[in-house]
Amino acid sequence: MFDTILIANRGEIACRVIETARAMGLRCVAVHSTADAASKHVQMADEAVCIGDPAPADSYLRGDRIIAAALATGAQAIHPGYGFLSENPGFVDQVTAAGLVFIGPSADAIRKMGLKDAAKALMEQAGVPVVPGYHGADQDPGHLELEASKIGYPVLIKAVAGGGGKGMRLVERPEGFVDGLERAKAEARTSFGNDAVLIEKYVTQPRHIEVQVFGDGTRAVHLFERDCSLQRRHQKVIEEAPAPGMTEDMRAAMGAAAVRAAEAIGYKGAGTVEFIVDGSNGLRADGFWFMEMNTRLQVEHPVTEAITGVDLVEWQIRVAAGESLPCAQEDLSITGHAFEARLYAEDVPAGFLPATGRLAHLGFPADVRADSGVRSGDSISPFYDPMIAKLIVHGPTRAVALQKLARGLAGTQVAGTVTNLAFLGALAGHKGFAAGEVDTGLIGRDLAGLTEAPVVTSAVLAQAALWAAGLETPGAWDRGFTLWQPLERTVVLHRGEDMPCVLRIMGPGRAEIAVPGAVVQAVHRGGRWWFDDQPAAQAHCAGGRVTVFASYGIGFDVVDPLERAAEAAGGDGLTLAPMPGRVVSVHVHAGQVVQAGDRLAVLEAMKMEHTLVAGLDGTVAEVLVKDGDQVEAGAPLIRLEEEEA
Ligand code: ADP
Ligand code: ADP
Ligand code: MG
Repeated sequence: MFDTILIANRGEIACRVIETARAMGLRCVAVHSTADAASKHVQMADEAVCIGDPAPADSYLRGDRIIAAALATGAQAIHPGYGFLSENPGFVDQVTAAGLVFIGPSADAIRKMGLKDAAKALMEQAGVPVVPGYHGADQDPGHLELEASKIGYPVLIKAVAGGGGKGMRLVERPEGFVDGLERAKAEARTSFGNDAVLIEKYVTQPRHIEVQVFGDGTRAVHLFERDCSLQRRHQKVIEEAPAPGMTEDMRAAMGAAAVRAAEAIGYKGAGTVEFIVDGSNGLRADGFWFMEMNTRLQVEHPVTEAITGVDLVEWQIRVAAGESLPCAQEDLSITGHAFEARLYAEDVPAGFLPATGRLAHLGFPADVRADSGVRSGDSISPFYDPMIAKLIVHGPTRAVALQKLARGLAGTQVAGTVTNLAFLGALAGHKGFAAGEVDTGLIGRDLAGLTEAPVVTSAVLAQAALWAAGLETPGAWDRGFTLWQPLERTVVLHRGEDMPCVLRIMGPGRAEIAVPGAVVQAVHRGGRWWFDDQPAAQAHCAGGRVTVFASYGIGFDVVDPLERAAEAAGGDGLTLAPMPGRVVSVHVHAGQVVQAGDRLAVLEAMKMEHTLVAGLDGTVAEVLVKDGDQVEAGAPLIRLEEEEA
């Protein structure tokens, strides 16, 4: 067995590998880019080496630097994680040439499965059913079109070098073929530098069911199936094991086919054989076809670990160190049901756009497995995949596991960036999904219902206002109010629009909070707040943003009165009160000539004095307040007339 391994990856998978390696008593070396110097995987490792600039091409894809780091730190083996160099046979050759062990399959096995067309040909020979279609060498557009018509529409055009759902086009009718081909090729060229394509029969009501395999270079076993049909644009969103509706016959047939695939290429380590299944008529032992093999540990491997009790990373390390398969096929069995949901920093209403930001707060409920590479305070940077975490749950039945998933998602707290948490929550509560009606079109069909904006209740607004005012601990009440204004205070929350909220103290631990359209009774009782007799959710407030952890997290900007003061003084020459307060002093009089930036008045609000300045050069036309006046938010204070040009 090795004593030191290097993990050539970052984020959650690097942390995941370190955890197991640690438990096996191994020393762990992390590599990182300059952007990741303070990241969780670096903190977890025994030693860390900086390998370059943030862009992957300058760091995590620099095989030469990674190998040099392994040699310099005395590591004997390299775990590639997934993505980056994990399926790069050239890297495997370099690792081996340097006298190190690659924790994964041989370069030869990776090459054989690297291109979808060659892999399909190989699988056909091995007697594995493949998706009917054309995967020949003739790339002439006319020939491809002819093949498509032979296969019969709808067809799927796929980049042979494809991955991650890229370079793929569904063509419904012959008229769309030429355009679809051009688009698939263009995407394949930019993403993979190889525009060769294959054409497949498009399976209607498709289900994606894959089989986890594990080999020692000669023999292989399978660790049952995962259903990854819940996809958005061919990318997995929620995965589960076992597959709903799976029969013993079909499982045995798929498992045997997957083992045949792995043994045909002398597969060593963890791999996944992906099949497409026709779900239109239930699952049948003859209704599955090989799509591709992923020669690495897969993102969704934890659901398999949950139902089999196997630690796949431990197996990877042991087999790489020369041990034979840790157990035989008959020793493996399925216990219960597991789900995994991928939590991303992404803007769902904006079309699932990847988002960035600093995670002001990140918390997971205790009874889920949360695989994550970030902590509270860490940032989701634009350089890498915006995954925040994977939530994995396990239960005795599918229904119980799904309920745990729903509760786990509801109890997950993220502040500081937008996420797909509400979308995942909607999926976990989807009736069809609960009934096991899973196919790759489910999300697309129900997208509107799955991405509905949350209802912001008056209780949530009231809570956000209380937290934004820094008054969430009852002890803060006296301090908060006696120093400034005894009875009332206004906070302006912003979420699409400004929402002024007025907090009124009514007695010890009791307040009335006027939010747009309602007045909420807030009572502090039994150590927590109640808003209109509903218990408060948890919340987080920092850096001008408050997040209430209800409905998967509802965030508001807290309007900064100083910024607003500057805004209010600009533009049309009318200076408005940025918040309710008392006019301490007025420094100008009607007819006075002022320049932009000159002090006009001082307002006292929220325990501070705010200077209001002229937003333009001009003359004071009107002074609408005097020293000592109490003003409401938005009240006009001083009007300037712009200087004639
Ligand atoms: P597939 O969709 O091919 O079955 P996965 O869903 O396991 O495979 O992941 C697809 C690919 O997306 C991975 O091989 C990896 O390159 C990339 N990927 C997904 N999530 C991440 C992540 N958090 N960090 C880096 N790469 C990722
Ligand atoms: P990638 O390498 O991008 O993961 P795959 O070949 O694994 O590409 O296909 C990705 C997804 O596209 C599958 O999970 C499935 O949802 C869909 N898909 C692929 N082939 C077919 C097909 N022949 N019929 C229907 N859907 C398919
Ligand atoms: Mg795939």
